[in-house]
Amino acid sequence: MDQAERALLDASMAHIVEMVLRQVDEDTYEVAAEDGRVRFERAPQGNGWSFGVLDLQGRNPLAIQEASRFSPLRDEASNPFPDRTENSYPFAYEQVAQIFDSPSAPDLVSIHTSAHNWADQGGHVGEHGSIDVVQSRGPFIIAGAGVKRSGMIAEACRVVDIAPTVLALLGVEPRRGIGLNGQARDDALLARQDGEPLTQLLDGHGSPPEHVVGFLLDGANANVLYDMATRGEAPNVARLLEMGTALGHGAMSSLPTVTLANHTSILTGAHPGHHGILNNAWYDRARREQVITNSPAHWITSMTHLDPRVETLFQAVTRSFPGEIAVSINEPCDVGADHSVFEMMRRGEPIFRPPPLDELPHTTKRFVRPVKEYKWSSLVDHTGLDQFLGIWSGHYAETEWPIPKFTWMNFSLTDAAFHEGGPYSEIAAASVHDTDARIGEVLDAVERAGVFEETAFFLTADHGMEESNVECTGNWADALDESGVAYRDEGYSFIYVNP
Ligand SMILES: [Zn+2]
Repeated sequence: MDQAERALLDASMAHIVEMVLRQVDEDTYEVAAEDGRVRFERAPQGNGWSFGVLDLQGRNPLAIQEASRFSPLRDEASNPFPDRTENSYPFAYEQVAQIFDSPSAPDLVSIHTSAHNWADQGGHVGEHGSIDVVQSRGPFIIAGAGVKRSGMIAEACRVVDIAPTVLALLGVEPRRGIGLNGQARDDALLARQDGEPLTQLLDGHGSPPEHVVGFLLDGANANVLYDMATRGEAPNVARLLEMGTALGHGAMSSLPTVTLANHTSILTGAHPGHHGILNNAWYDRARREQVITNSPAHWITSMTHLDPRVETLFQAVTRSFPGEIAVSINEPCDVGADHSVFEMMRRGEPIFRPPPLDELPHTTKRFVRPVKEYKWSSLVDHTGLDQFLGIWSGHYAETEWPIPKFTWMNFSLTDAAFHEGGPYSEIAAASVHDTDARIGEVLDAVERAGVFEETAFFLTADHGMEESNVECTGNWADALDESGVAYRDEGYSFIYVNP
């Protein structure tokens, strides 16, 4: 393992390897960069952990943990590709520790630099996966019934705080569960609850909302989204902001800051090291096999890897409100949902066929034709809107539907576009525009159903998106190969030595 770490930390890799993470003992971890190394330990404190530095050589790679760094947009855009000595890693000690709680955790996690462009792995202008603040930062807006109208506030949360917050908003009674540190807690809203409810955002008087609608804008850079909403370029997101509160410094996704690991963290309130969806790909040590979850071929079976000790929001809502339903739209993490397109696929039922491209509403024509991913995601998101409108009208897929207690909508177009052109590109702005229009249709449908005043909404993302330096390419596989050590690199970051 030392040999592999040395290879990754070689000066020739310093432009692409920000730091390397490892567990050295049960509750002890080490994080090393080219210019320093920190060893730290964790101990239970409250429902979580306290952390203490045991040893420091050179610069502490995790020294800066401010969530406020590179926010708002002008601060982010005027500091492109921040160097490791100026970058920030919010909640860094917790981020590192949680992943090694999984029996299939890798030996080393290689975190790439803010500048790194995965050109030779089919990379993009926009990148994520690091625990740096820009790649971790998704938006968080909560609005409507039961929510304080504070507008944009200078605060941040973790994505694992979102599910407990939604359940607190709905007035769910706490009960016994397992907390972040693995010990029992009596105030849990979910069976496994790593996060904490953000009760400061809830108004706390009056009756809780009758319905909650959640939006995930995959890969939407929070600063860009907030900026567009403020400038009137995303009027429906702006409407949500006016009706509630937005965390200006964002919701920080969990290590690894990739898609399905964090969809699952948002929907379970647990970190990837605890909910079992470790990464888009990893190595199952017990079965000695590679696991892939985040690809069209694997989405329908991905949740077989979900740890049965965690609970999804769908399960927690229907457990707390017997007779009510929970709906999951285009979301692979669908356990416990009464409607899921992936469940329809598992049952072999026909799914909605999108209209021809020319008739696709809310679509930026100049990108939908030439850009394959933009077209695919536009079609997928259109089918999502179709499911929402059908179910909320009371009739969908030859079934009658009551108004769901909880409806979750996963939009994929933002991820495709923010990757393609980077967060500040015209294609990224177009994707926000198109998605905002689909959100507008959802808000209209909630009004048509006559329950707008009794409905709460929230909006988030599974990770951020950072502009990479297209000239900063390279692959640490070169250094690992040269070292002669036997290894697997899963999901371009999880390194298993002598697997
Ligand atoms: Zn994603």
